[in-house]
Amino acid sequence: MSVKPSEAEEEYFARQEYERKKKVEEEKHGRLAEEERKRLKDLHYMRCPKCGMELIEVNYKGILVDKCSECEGIWLDTGELESVSKLEKAGLDKLFSVFRR
Ligand SMILES: [Zn+2]
Repeated sequence: MSVKPSEAEEEYFARQEYERKKKVEEEKHGRLAEEERKRLKDLHYMRCPKCGMELIEVNYKGILVDKCSECEGIWLDTGELESVSKLEKAGLDKLFSVFRR
C-alpha cells in the first residue's frame, strides 16, 4: 500500500505543528513555579478539561477510562488510546456498553 504524497505532507505538517506547540508549552511549563504546578494539579485533578466537573474512572481490561459526570466526554491517559485501538470490535462494543444509559 503506497501513501499519497499529500497524505505524507499533511502528516508532516501536523507533526511540525504539534512539535512547535509542544515546545511553546514546554517553555511555559519551565517558567511555572513548582508551587503553581501543585496548585493547578489540586484544582484540576480528575476534573473534566471541558466543563470542570468530576470525572468517573472506570477500569475496563486494564484501561482506565475517565468519563465526565456532566458533559459525558470521555478522556484517556497517555498510551490508553493505543490500548483502545487494539481492542477487537466486540471489545469496543463492550467498552461503550459500560457507559450506555
Ligand atoms: Zn465535562
